[in-house]
Amino acid sequence: MKARIAMAWPLVRVAVTAVVVALVLAPSAFAQAPADIQKAVDAAYAKYKDLKEGKNADYIPALARVDPNLFGIAVVTADGKVYSAGDLKTEVSIQSISKVFSAAQVIQEQGLDSIAMQIGVDATGARFNSIIAIEGVKMVAGAGAPEMNPLVNPGAISATSMVKGATADEVWKKIIGTNNDFAGRQLSVLQDVYKSESDSNQRNQAIGALMLAYGYIKANWQQAVDLYTRQCSIGVNAKDLATMAATLAFGGKNPVTGKQVMDADRVPGVLAIMATAGLYDDSGKWLYRTGLPAKSGVGGGLIAVSPGKFGIAVIAPPLDDAGNSVKAQKAIADISNALGGNPYKVAAK
Ligand code: GLU
Repeated sequence: MKARIAMAWPLVRVAVTAVVVALVLAPSAFAQAPADIQKAVDAAYAKYKDLKEGKNADYIPALARVDPNLFGIAVVTADGKVYSAGDLKTEVSIQSISKVFSAAQVIQEQGLDSIAMQIGVDATGARFNSIIAIEGVKMVAGAGAPEMNPLVNPGAISATSMVKGATADEVWKKIIGTNNDFAGRQLSVLQDVYKSESDSNQRNQAIGALMLAYGYIKANWQQAVDLYTRQCSIGVNAKDLATMAATLAFGGKNPVTGKQVMDADRVPGVLAIMATAGLYDDSGKWLYRTGLPAKSGVGGGLIAVSPGKFGIAVIAPPLDDAGNSVKAQKAIADISNALGGNPYKVAAK
């Protein structure tokens, strides 16, 4: 017996050393205690619950009918724990937040260069559904467009058109599958929103047709616009959105289900476009205040990512003039501030 222990000892020593080295080299763990995370969430909820600023989007009629008092906050950490306050159950349409996951799908399927070279990764300096932005940009062969990205409608419709599949159904299965994997559950389309937006999306149809004319979309722009409209109508609650954000925060691995949804080395590209263009014309202001890659949607959702620390989401439909949820911006900024979420903020050594 003694001899066996003596023989095993070097192995034990190697194993212990490996664990110690791994711990030392690991990125600094998120140091917040669970009670402090919950406290920050509760404080933001109480502070902004009764705020009445902003207005629901109404250019898609179904969005104007959503309860403007809906307010849900969720934070998901590395251990898959969900911290929340308010409404976690009610679903809103994901809208523009879906653009992140279609871009992620293309990047995962076709590599980082695909989006950079065929769409572009720069701010447009124009509204998210600007047609002038399409007229103004010229694709540079092998370098994408200097003022286009997959988080504004023209780039997003192009990204959706790039998802590979022989039929619309095949492409859709991939798009919804990616959203499901990021959220960690089976999501479905809110049919009333899909119908409402399909009946009123002439502007996006014009964008799709122009993108074909200028060579961004290679074929079948009608299918791309329809699938884009469908992806924008996917129903999500605050927990879904926070889990999607957390999957991006933890190297593409969903911390709730444990599934590796995307290769870790492709995630920074997705976060970079969120940082550049996630909050429409206010993307710079948001990044300046919080340092967080984020994406908003006109349905009232906002997701933000603190890499290696947490994913966070808030749903609150009334929007400001730039199209971003008023309460969501304030709540996320407060919570991230309380938890040290800004990745650019490092203590001086
Ligand atoms: N489906 C919406 C549109 O295309 C998404 C806009 C948004 O959330 O920014 O107009």
